[in-house]
Amino acid sequence: MTRLFASDLHLDPARPDITAQFLGFLDGPAREAEALYLLGDLFEAWLGDDAPGALGETLIEALASLSATGVGLFVMQGNRDFLLGQEFCRRAGGRLLADPTLVTIGPERVLLTHGDALCTGDASYQRLRSLVRDPEVQRAFLALPVDRRHALAAEARAGSRAHLAGADEYITDVSQEAVEQVMRQAGVSLLLHGHTHRPAIHRFRMDGRECTRIVLGDWHRQGSVLRWDDDGYELVEMPRIER
Ligand code: MN
Repeated sequence: MTRLFASDLHLDPARPDITAQFLGFLDGPAREAEALYLLGDLFEAWLGDDAPGALGETLIEALASLSATGVGLFVMQGNRDFLLGQEFCRRAGGRLLADPTLVTIGPERVLLTHGDALCTGDASYQRLRSLVRDPEVQRAFLALPVDRRHALAAEARAGSRAHLAGADEYITDVSQEAVEQVMRQAGVSLLLHGHTHRPAIHRFRMDGRECTRIVLGDWHRQGSVLRWDDDGYELVEMPRIER
């Protein structure tokens, strides 16, 4: 039984190279898996399931074709595509996962999360996060015409770039305290997340037991997945072949 995990593809009409590599992945290696988990920021921006655009339609079609072969598809929202919803998942043949979600893999209980909620050192980001996750705010946004949503999303991204350029590196990484808190709450020894674009497998001790935090990589310069089969898990980088 092979499960594949990926996050932070940040698919964007301006980066056809990433889309091409991911479509090749969905049409190739992903077909051999039992399940594919997309843990947030599949898209650089998502204006709502009623406005997928050409790129969104392409992905819905590719994911639907994968899930139709029997591969389980699980989708979590990220901080860029937090408006990905039930309609997207229905059309893609997948299931929307809450953030966080607890899954059992063999003998292991694993907590899945996008990861932005763990970056508690960045107070202004966390304030923004609770604002955009507010159902009232989301309803108001989704009621706007698509071109207005597009303009607001572009403004938000420019603001985010300016903010990140001024933030210290430690602030935009997860806080160990927040990591331990969610793990303790869920009663797990293994946490799997993306968001920080710092792929790694961290081992540490907490409450007298060995714990692991796996961080997925982004797809900015290469493909990146966590492959988990009967022999265990490994982070795999897939070079981008320019065509
Ligand atoms: Mn993210």
